[in-house]
Amino acid sequence: MSQTQILILGSGSPNAEANRVSSGVAIAVDGQPYLVDCGHGVVQRVVQAHEADLIAWDSTALTRLFITHLHADHSVGLPDLLYTPWIHGRELPLEAYGPAGLADMLRHIQLAYAENIREHRSAHPSSERGYMAAAREVGEGLCYKDEKLSVYALRADHGDLAALSYKFVTGAGTVVISGDTKPVAAFADWARGCDVLIHEVYSSSRFPERSPEWQAYHSRVHTSTRELATLANAIRPGRLLLYHQLFWGQTPDELIAEIARDYDGRVISTNDLDVFDL
Ligand SMILES: [Zn+2]
Ligand SMILES: [Zn+2]
Repeated sequence: MSQTQILILGSGSPNAEANRVSSGVAIAVDGQPYLVDCGHGVVQRVVQAHEADLIAWDSTALTRLFITHLHADHSVGLPDLLYTPWIHGRELPLEAYGPAGLADMLRHIQLAYAENIREHRSAHPSSERGYMAAAREVGEGLCYKDEKLSVYALRADHGDLAALSYKFVTGAGTVVISGDTKPVAAFADWARGCDVLIHEVYSSSRFPERSPEWQAYHSRVHTSTRELATLANAIRPGRLLLYHQLFWGQTPDELIAEIARDYDGRVISTNDLDVFDL
């Protein structure tokens, strides 16, 4: 049976926080990581995880990327992901999957760093292809398959930005990751019975303290603790992992308690560098 491990690299949101870098989760199957999103600090977290012996693989193994949407807190680490593992010795190009606009984003990053690439290739011992990226823009359904796992996408609802949720089916079980989204009607059926549900969330109890403008925004594009409890009751995941938490002053335990009011399953508020075995 294959071994699947979830490594929370960045549990944060667009709000810069001292102990949380922005979004990045690695699902590793038999030592091959599949990275979901790449906010700021994600590559640094991989280096930290490796040095702390939390993972056997290192940044050079980062060759598969799934982007949920193009907000900066999910993508601003892309140049780092292209060039730092290259310096570390990555041989293979990055295969990147994601919504419309991803190919243009990667192309523009490579253009922006053309001088770096040119000088690095001519002056340093470096692999031929380790900085390259192949983008594949995907919609709903099966979007990736290899001998270790299959990955499915479902359209998320994150305002008028194209956004996806992903489901990873490995020999050890199923992991669903929401990305940024408000509840979507098809999501519960799609995710039902998964072993691990990794879901974004904001605090329902602190929501009334937000300005009317922010209330309108968050209720339109994100998921509250109350909504997540309803979703979790329909899905009944083995474990519910909270990430991209908008605490607004709540503690992790208080955020969990908001969900536990209406949901009696296992809920964990994740931190950067948390590791979970499937
Ligand atoms: Zn976000
Ligand atoms: Zn977003």
